[in-house]
Amino acid sequence: MGKYSKDHLESILNMDDPNEHEDQRVRQRNARKCEIISFSEETQTAEFKGSGEKSYVATLDSCTCQDFGMRGLPCKHIYRLMHELGRFDLNAVPEGRTSVPTPARELFDPEILNSLSQGALKELYALVREWIAWASSNSWLFSRSNAEVKELISGGFLEEFEDAGKSLSIIEMSELRKTLNPYGIKIRSKRDATPHILNLAPGVLEHTKREYVLVRFNESIRPIRGQIRNFLKPQFPDFPEEMETTDMWHVTRTSTLRGFKD
Ligand SMILES: [Zn+2]
Repeated sequence: MGKYSKDHLESILNMDDPNEHEDQRVRQRNARKCEIISFSEETQTAEFKGSGEKSYVATLDSCTCQDFGMRGLPCKHIYRLMHELGRFDLNAVPEGRTSVPTPARELFDPEILNSLSQGALKELYALVREWIAWASSNSWLFSRSNAEVKELISGGFLEEFEDAGKSLSIIEMSELRKTLNPYGIKIRSKRDATPHILNLAPGVLEHTKREYVLVRFNESIRPIRGQIRNFLKPQFPDFPEEMETTDMWHVTRTSTLRGFKD
């Protein structure tokens, strides 16, 4: 049952207090962070800053945001308006889980996506686009200190995995040659080097794994990756419309990234 199915939304509405449903709790917690542009006690409306240029206007029973448009249930803006009008106490909302549950349909929740940092969202958008455009590829190597990637891992979007060849590909060909030279081994490609490195200099792989993390998308996201891309697209209008395969190695990023073709 999807987050936006009629049945699911009805099951929320049918609760004694729909505001106690976890889906609504997420919105209430995010409501504390909404930026108010204007507020009128008289007309019971408020205007909020959106993630892009657009702002959202909420009344007590409607809002111009996408979340309200899709669900027809109170969004974070409506909750914030209620709070400002003294009709709902956002400070009394219990704190819930902080990490995102793994089932794919729960990951496509605009509220959960929007609770990621702007940097992590941008990285997610770039990766999802690559994943779709470059169909066979679902693996990337990042520096372990990359905060956005850490966020995407803890959010359940990306997962760490092991592949010695892919990890070692970050090392320059000349370095690999230098490492294997004392053993009398000549290599023509990085791929050639992997078994020798594992045999003769396993410390090199250990070192690489300490510095870099190899990640891939949680496979359960595959069916909704198009939805995620379409949802994030308006937030990052600066991205090039089309990406050529060769450009994927050079996508403007907040961090260094390597894509692999399987
Ligand atoms: Zn709204």
